[in-house]
Amino acid sequence: MHRTAFVWDDLYLNYSFPGDHPFKSLRESMARKYMEERGFFHVVEVVRPDPPEEDILTEVHSPEYVDFVRAMSELGEGLLDYGDTPAFKGVYESALMRVMGSVTGIRLLARGYDHSVNLGGGLHHAQRSAASGFCVFNDVAIAVKQAEKLLGRVAVVDIDGHHGDGTQALLYEDPKSLKVSLHMYHRGFFPGTGNIDEIGEGEGRGLTVNVPLPPGTGDDAYLYAFDNVVIPALEKFKPDIIVIQEGGDSHMSDPLVGLKLSTRGYLEVIKRIHSFSHNKSTGKILMLGGGGYDYDATARVWTISTAELSGIDPMEVESLHDCCLTSSSAFVMERVREVVKKLRDIHGLG
Ligand SMILES: [Zn+2]
Ligand SMILES: [Zn+2]
Repeated sequence: MHRTAFVWDDLYLNYSFPGDHPFKSLRESMARKYMEERGFFHVVEVVRPDPPEEDILTEVHSPEYVDFVRAMSELGEGLLDYGDTPAFKGVYESALMRVMGSVTGIRLLARGYDHSVNLGGGLHHAQRSAASGFCVFNDVAIAVKQAEKLLGRVAVVDIDGHHGDGTQALLYEDPKSLKVSLHMYHRGFFPGTGNIDEIGEGEGRGLTVNVPLPPGTGDDAYLYAFDNVVIPALEKFKPDIIVIQEGGDSHMSDPLVGLKLSTRGYLEVIKRIHSFSHNKSTGKILMLGGGGYDYDATARVWTISTAELSGIDPMEVESLHDCCLTSSSAFVMERVREVVKKLRDIHGLG
């Protein structure tokens, strides 16, 4: 019914930037600990990623960029982009292992699992020939390519607080995948893309759906946008598999993003996708991690979402929840309504 694989390798933990850099693999280890303490792994099977396949990186990255990362990883210093993403010893191997985790997650679905979870994945900013925003290789786009080969039509639902710009760019003309991203959109906020008029090109035209949200968007406005844009877009596209990028930085306590989701809002989003998948698709879901700079909040979000997918009793994770759903100001709600209205029009959603 909800046969779930949890893809994990300890090498993931090496993908953690040094010093006071905000991206830490502590999130993944905390989530794993929360799950262990609650007996998740009696129900959820822990599976190691398939061994490294270096060729898989060039499905979306240029060979020159892959060579560059390998060389910088041996050197162990310097920058992989303009400043956000430093190199360190072994960054190549740990980034590749995270990619293998997402690819393995897809292969497990093709082999009969209903759901797979790879918290090491979700590195959605990486571009064809460049690292960006703490992301070295774009496992999301690589997993989509793998899923298209094995399973058919793929919908990506990216609920990270930042726009999934790398995934969008790498799949912008792809006719077999729907790319949906909900994110904060505000002057000067990284990465600066993700407005409503970015809808895809060529054969992929209409298959990129961006939901830009103002700072202060709470659970109520977020779920309003989800119900009125994302669910109808999924119904229209009819995916065979759904890939969720579940960055934890849309949470209200995240220090880098200004959205206001609670763990209960996150759970509502996952429940909606889960229910859609079983009722109107094949039930197959790959859930990935992503950003998240309040480490505890991110670990709680991931644990609660994994419980939902795998059918674990919600009471087991009740103590990890925030008290209640959050609400948005009237001003924010009005702005979100306007965005939703325009998107329904642009994408012909009723
Ligand atoms: Zn299920
Ligand atoms: Zn993010």
